[in-house]
Amino acid sequence: MKLVEVKDVKKYFPVQRGFLESLMSKETDFIRAVDGISFDIEKGEVIGLAGESGSGKTTTGRLCVRLVRPTEGQIVFDGMDISTLRGKDLREIRRRIQFTFQDPTSSLNPRMTIGDAIGDALRLQEIGTEDERRERVEEVLERVGLSPPETFYDRLPHQLSGGQKQRVVFGRAMILNPEFVVTDEPVAMVDVSIKAQILELMMDLKKEYGLTYLFISHDLATSRHVCDRIGIMYLGKIVEVGDKDSIYEDPLHPYAVGLISAIPVPDPKIKKAKAVPRGEIPSPIDPPSGCRFHPRCPKAFEKCPLEEPVLKDVGNGRLVACHLY
Ligand code: SF4
Repeated sequence: MKLVEVKDVKKYFPVQRGFLESLMSKETDFIRAVDGISFDIEKGEVIGLAGESGSGKTTTGRLCVRLVRPTEGQIVFDGMDISTLRGKDLREIRRRIQFTFQDPTSSLNPRMTIGDAIGDALRLQEIGTEDERRERVEEVLERVGLSPPETFYDRLPHQLSGGQKQRVVFGRAMILNPEFVVTDEPVAMVDVSIKAQILELMMDLKKEYGLTYLFISHDLATSRHVCDRIGIMYLGKIVEVGDKDSIYEDPLHPYAVGLISAIPVPDPKIKKAKAVPRGEIPSPIDPPSGCRFHPRCPKAFEKCPLEEPVLKDVGNGRLVACHLY
């Protein structure tokens, strides 16, 4: 069953200009952060979004939980179009969908205790009495591994380690018993030694609460451990989607080939093809014509700068946007 359907979604942000610049030009430029993407997420699935910084994966995550409104297109959650919801209706849906931010330190208010940070959503949603809310927060603290909960409840974020703060972030996401969680680079800011514990917590919560995740990460090695399917994004577009094993073992899109070959291997004796995408990702204000990857693509040919490839089904649920397929 499809829990989330992203249909032809675009998100353009107007470019902020200085006073003189805006006097000289009346035209508004737009950052095309997400530029016409479609994909579905099955209930109970973990789908990963990968790509370099600037590929549009974080904006896609924010769109899926309606932290931002799409410029065009539809986001359907459990059969309901949430793209244009506002006010009370949006608040209602926020009980069911949550987002965890990349940096736990900056996403926690330094003056708010851990108990208040986790319980804030209960207060905003006017759920329970003060005692009931405290009880629920302590339950969640315990569940995310901050035990005994009463010793964490009144602490401030600066009194916690990076790993503990990340647990608070997951606690805050879980307090309303959501069904769908978008998690943005959940282990990028924690020590390598803590990484495995946070991923394990994430997967335990999934099992226990029947969660569906959108897992955003630039680290493909980590995504492989937790995801069922992976979508590769480049400059606001999805260029390949498939089950994780086919993407890792036999990537088709030249950009996916480059990203996969750049994953470090633990054994230095294993030689990998040097196909790391060359050059820098171009500006999303004025993306290249045709296939956006053509200036960096080792396989580009005449058609590539002229015509934009669309995502095509190449079998076994794999979709690729490249003229080679
Ligand atoms: Fe490379 Fe052309 Fe395929 Fe784009 S369409 S990825 S430029 S071969």
